Amino acid sequence: MIQGMINSFCNLFKKSATIDFPNEQMKISKNYRGLINHSDSDCIWCDVCEKVCPPGAILFLQNMDGSKKYNYNPYLCIYCGECVRNCPKPNEALWQEENIAFSSSSKKEVQDDWFSLEDECKIARVKYKEHKESLKKSQKVEQPLS
Ligand code: SF4
Ligand code: SF4
Repeated sequence: MIQGMINSFCNLFKKSATIDFPNEQMKISKNYRGLINHSDSDCIWCDVCEKVCPPGAILFLQNMDGSKKYNYNPYLCIYCGECVRNCPKPNEALWQEENIAFSSSSKKEVQDDWFSLEDECKIARVKYKEHKESLKKSQKVEQPLS
């Protein structure tokens, strides 16, 4: 008990282990990899980043016109860097930024309900596959007999 009191008294004069965030910024470790950023114009939409992401923090929503929408969840991301390492266009289409606070661009990408977005993406892919197959069939039917 006496030792506990001595420790408590000594701790009164020690520097606090916590910081006054957001007034004070955290010190960034040299090994910190940072938030994921994506460029729609440089991406070739190969889906590799989505496939290699361990927690599923990247989702592509398939549109019927063939285009896709990139979605990133910084709250699921474990900042492992696998997506950037496997991207065929690293540092152009996908890169990590040494920014400790969530940037406004990342916040915009956060989905209120990520899990319903997952379902939406799965359904959209199935529908797009069916759409392509039906297009192929109709093209075959339209071809003249030789
Ligand atoms: S850094 Fe890791 S967890 Fe985050 S999006 Fe990339 S692969 Fe997924
Ligand atoms: S791996 Fe790179 S190029 Fe492929 S979809 Fe992801 S960001 Fe785009």
